[in-house]
Amino acid sequence: MTELIALSDSYARECTSKALEVVEGKFVVLDKSIFAPRGGGLPSDTGKIMRGNDEFKVLYVVKKEGKILHELDRGGILAGEEVKCELNWERRHRLMRMHTAGHILSAIMFAKSGILITGNAIDIDKSRFDFSMENFDKAAFQSLIDEANVQIARGLEVSVSSLPRDEALKLPGMVKLAGALPPEVKELRIVKIGDVDLQADGGVHVKNTSEIGKLVFIDAENKGKNNRRVYFGLE
Ligand SMILES: [Zn+2]
Repeated sequence: MTELIALSDSYARECTSKALEVVEGKFVVLDKSIFAPRGGGLPSDTGKIMRGNDEFKVLYVVKKEGKILHELDRGGILAGEEVKCELNWERRHRLMRMHTAGHILSAIMFAKSGILITGNAIDIDKSRFDFSMENFDKAAFQSLIDEANVQIARGLEVSVSSLPRDEALKLPGMVKLAGALPPEVKELRIVKIGDVDLQADGGVHVKNTSEIGKLVFIDAENKGKNNRRVYFGLE
């Protein structure tokens, strides 16, 4: 098991770790890691691992069969070795800003228009949401973005806590996502953004919405009869 530091401290940029196992030469399992694996609509972190002065690029991090695999640009790290992990912080902080902004936007979309997101992909340049809506109007959607920006500008605090599954499921709005989690998940990680959003969530967020800046509406597409896809970014 790898301790995922990103889930308790999304601002940790470095750590010293021990390689527990190396799979197929260049997939390394660490005892603890600052790199967050791909998941929950977020892409994987990147960065580098140093063994002394020897640098290995971290290209991709994925959870596979219960293990967190760090894919390196080359082999060479051996099980038992101590390494220093360094996160590509610029990329990560942008992902955190996009992710928290996405939560606020989805909360506003639900609160103002009853829209439920059916798919999402957060990325550094643009992010997307999929949802079902009969009559989609770009101007109306822009007003949801504007409202999200009003909330973002309030400088809301983002807090992370954990709750037993049964208690978490009693919270309004929690069932949709948390209900989909496998029953063996007994404790849920809960992310609260001021008085705007409360979700069971496994991703990295900023501490305060003042770090986000401003959300911008990029484009909208129709993906079939009622299926909409919107793209948004950060100014
Ligand atoms: Zn999330």
